[in-house]
Amino acid sequence: MGAQLGAREVLLAALSRRGAATPFVAAVSTLRILLGDQLSFDIAALAGLEPARDIVLMMEVMHEGAYANHHKQKIVLVLSAMRHFADALRQRGVTVDYVKLDAPGNTGSFTSEVQRAVGRHRPQGIVVTEPSEWRVQSMVERWAELTNTPVEIRADDRFFASRGRFADWARGRRGWRMEHFYREMRREHGILMEGKAPAGGDWNYDSENRKRLPARTVPPVRLRFPPDDTTRDVMRLVECCFPDHFGGLEEFGWPVTRTDALRALDDFVSIGLPSFGDYQDAMKAGAPFLYHSLLAPALNLGLLSPREVCRAAETAWRSGAAPLNAVEGFVRQILGWREYVRGVYGMLMPGYAYGNALQATRKLPEFYWTGRTDMRCLRETIDGTARYAYSHHIQRLMLTGNFALMAGIAPHEIERWYLAVYADAFEWVEMPNTLGMAVFADGGRMASKPYAASGAYIDRMSDFCSGCAYDVKQKTGGEACPFNYLYWAFLIRQTDRLSGNPRMAMPYRALDGWPAERKAAILADADAFLDRLDNNEQRSGADP
Ligand SMILES: Cc1cc2nc3c(=O)[nH]c(=O)nc-3n(C[C@H](O)[C@H](O)[C@H](O)COP(=O)(O)OP(=O)(O)OC[C@H]3O[C@@H](n4cnc5c(N)ncnc54)[C@H](O)[C@@H]3O)c2cc1C
Ligand code: SF4
Repeated sequence: MGAQLGAREVLLAALSRRGAATPFVAAVSTLRILLGDQLSFDIAALAGLEPARDIVLMMEVMHEGAYANHHKQKIVLVLSAMRHFADALRQRGVTVDYVKLDAPGNTGSFTSEVQRAVGRHRPQGIVVTEPSEWRVQSMVERWAELTNTPVEIRADDRFFASRGRFADWARGRRGWRMEHFYREMRREHGILMEGKAPAGGDWNYDSENRKRLPARTVPPVRLRFPPDDTTRDVMRLVECCFPDHFGGLEEFGWPVTRTDALRALDDFVSIGLPSFGDYQDAMKAGAPFLYHSLLAPALNLGLLSPREVCRAAETAWRSGAAPLNAVEGFVRQILGWREYVRGVYGMLMPGYAYGNALQATRKLPEFYWTGRTDMRCLRETIDGTARYAYSHHIQRLMLTGNFALMAGIAPHEIERWYLAVYADAFEWVEMPNTLGMAVFADGGRMASKPYAASGAYIDRMSDFCSGCAYDVKQKTGGEACPFNYLYWAFLIRQTDRLSGNPRMAMPYRALDGWPAERKAAILADADAFLDRLDNNEQRSGADP
């Protein structure tokens, strides 16, 4: 860094010798701060950057790695992508003050590092793009006072909808349904539109997107990115600084540069997208990726923009390379869900974090960290998560999420787990998905009903049940699939809160017809199972 600042000083001196730099120019510098998920060349904080006067500050700080049990791959991904981005800025002539995690004097937190940087550079002002997380936003809001330097916080315009745009849409509405927001976004941004009508005549092709994967399907081999020297350096650092964190590094294969992120996008569009719709909800043992894009880490870091990703998908449809049900389903995830959850988070934080509409209090079972359970669907998913820092949406929602919902795991416990275990986990997107979608802790702000499902759903959408210690066809008893009795016990216990929900009318009608003994047997099985879970035991009381 010293050498880079030296170069800057040499440049300024040369400019003043030529009379090109006025004393005012030489004295002024703006400290432009980039956070780890702001790795976009067109990010607001870099707009108007003057290479001769401004410095970009990037900081690796211990606190960001340590405040949750982040997967080692996630920490490697962020730090390696930051280092590559800093190099790319330098190649464009930008002066970067990059503070490495193990740099002497690194104080370990954003705020104290910004204070140190202000001491080093004495900038006239600081410019930063609004952080995506509420926690960091509250730090940034104190920087002006703590550094005695003006701080300009610029809106993050990498999203389709600004926070204000979402607030305009949400204000005055009784329910915030993603589908309504999504249609407005389609119209507003002209994506998958034919004039004023949706492409193909329908807004939503979800009903075509729930196919079971044929048994003999061999999923495509996906493009992965072996670690380069920079990533390997970061791996060593992470193994040394975060040795006890969740997950392994052996399978690290995430893109850490924009060039590789664009290659990942091309790979997905050509080999994943055509079947993305059909098998969006399917699950298969030993096949964690199937036809999913694997693009969330690159999108969330800023290496790809949601606009270019949606454009690439739409182009594939218009050129006949991918069918409409796939492309619409994919665009809905990004233009719809991703923008919508950001809006919900922006509107409802910080109170949103404390919702517990179903009064769930159970501790997170140990197997969420170890994968040691004889429920095959959960074991496969958690093992895959530890290996790849990834599982796809239906595994998150209908396996680990569904189980947490029905077992009554405290929202905060499960939310911190989701924040830790995926390479793409950033609170603004993870928290609404967990609290709103997976465990209904917000009482229905996001989802119109809880996503609770019995083993029959998992059996229909996967091949897990055939090799499981439990029998998915049995509803009660020692051999029965726990998802079966947990499902009905959940409904029985939440009758007061959920039976009035029109979307839950069908299962509650079924329950009404059941004799009391049948309900009692279900509750007894569920209680016995949950007791064993609390004691970290499996079937028949054996230690897992
Ligand atoms: C409990 C739970 C926790 C989640 N936590 C995260 C998280 O921390 N970070 C994260 O990016 N996504 C999260 N999701 C949403 C979704 O599961 C992931 O975005 C997706 O699985 C990432 O894999 P992919 O890139 O292969 O996605 P694909 O299935 O290929 O989908 C394409 C893209 O759409 C976007 N997307 C899809 N579904 C959602 C959604 N529900 N909300 C927001 N964006 C979506 C993502 O950017 C994704 O890359 C969570 C979902 C659940 C149910
Ligand atoms: S039988 Fe039940 S626990 Fe086993 S894999 Fe199927 S759904 Fe999961």
